Amino acid sequence: MFMARANALYYATRDPFRDFTTSPEISQVFGELLGAWAAVTWAAMGRPDPVVLAELGPGRGTLMADALRTVRSVTPDFFAALQLHLVETSPRLRRLQAERLQGTWHDGADTLPALPTIVLANEFLDALPIRQFVRRGAGWAERWVCEGRFAEQPAPDLDVGEGEVVERCEAAHAIVGRLASGIAAQGGAALFLDYGAAESPPADTLQAIRNGAASDPLSDPGEADLTAHVDFGGLARTAREAGAAVHGPVPQGMFLARLGLFQRTDRLAQTQRPGRAAALIAAAQRLAEPAHMGRLFKAMALTHPGLPAPAGFAK
Ligand code: SAH
Repeated sequence: MFMARANALYYATRDPFRDFTTSPEISQVFGELLGAWAAVTWAAMGRPDPVVLAELGPGRGTLMADALRTVRSVTPDFFAALQLHLVETSPRLRRLQAERLQGTWHDGADTLPALPTIVLANEFLDALPIRQFVRRGAGWAERWVCEGRFAEQPAPDLDVGEGEVVERCEAAHAIVGRLASGIAAQGGAALFLDYGAAESPPADTLQAIRNGAASDPLSDPGEADLTAHVDFGGLARTAREAGAAVHGPVPQGMFLARLGLFQRTDRLAQTQRPGRAAALIAAAQRLAEPAHMGRLFKAMALTHPGLPAPAGFAK
């Protein structure tokens, strides 16, 4: 509840992109590749018309603006068939998105139309609120926040060792389960890019970024971005139980390289002034290198079980 309220205040009142930089803000090629991914996925779905193209947590709208520019020039049939839907709770970010995108806005995924759907979500799941449980002697406690500090309340039993912290993101399971059952019923796919281990061991991953630096998650609620690592393994199980096929997670660097990150970047760099070309290549490396965003960040896709492995996931 603390994390949900603090983040709602943060995204409603602050410019998150002063505190952190996301992949679509690093290079235009990121959104372009995701647009191409959506177009190839649409073709594999049998080119449904109409089709929903949805984004969860579109931030400044950069990813979708870059994706749509590519879709429009490379696959005009897909561009003509798609209806754009955006899931965003922050009124401030909705206004920024509306300057660049024409679509329909939603507070949650539950009001998306019941149509074949392609979903894109970058650094969305990590912003959803988690619960934390900690082992205390023979039992378990849940962490609450009381006057700027953690307080503990008795909680039901979980199976790990003394002092260990377990996180659970019910909001992420709810939205992934909902999208997975929609995809199983209506057809489509969802692509999540975010950070976390492929199979999360118990750990405390709650973190705060304020003015571009790590800060105490409990101090000054609403002034820092609060995130937790995404439990891809757990979310994959939820999606399978809801009837979707799950692909990955694969490291972001591998996923983007398979989609042509470096080829597209080189093409683009050839048409730029020399200084810009070097910056474009450095940006691609930042997205893909293991020491930067290439390994901790992962891509995971959900599809209708009748679809082949989507681009970037095929072995
Ligand atoms: N995808 C963007 C922005 C990531 S920041 C990018 O890659 O740059 C997280 C985004 O999710 C913001 O747009 C934020 O306002 C939105 N968001 C956070 N919690 C949300 C929730 N519960 N429901 C809908 N959107 C949410």
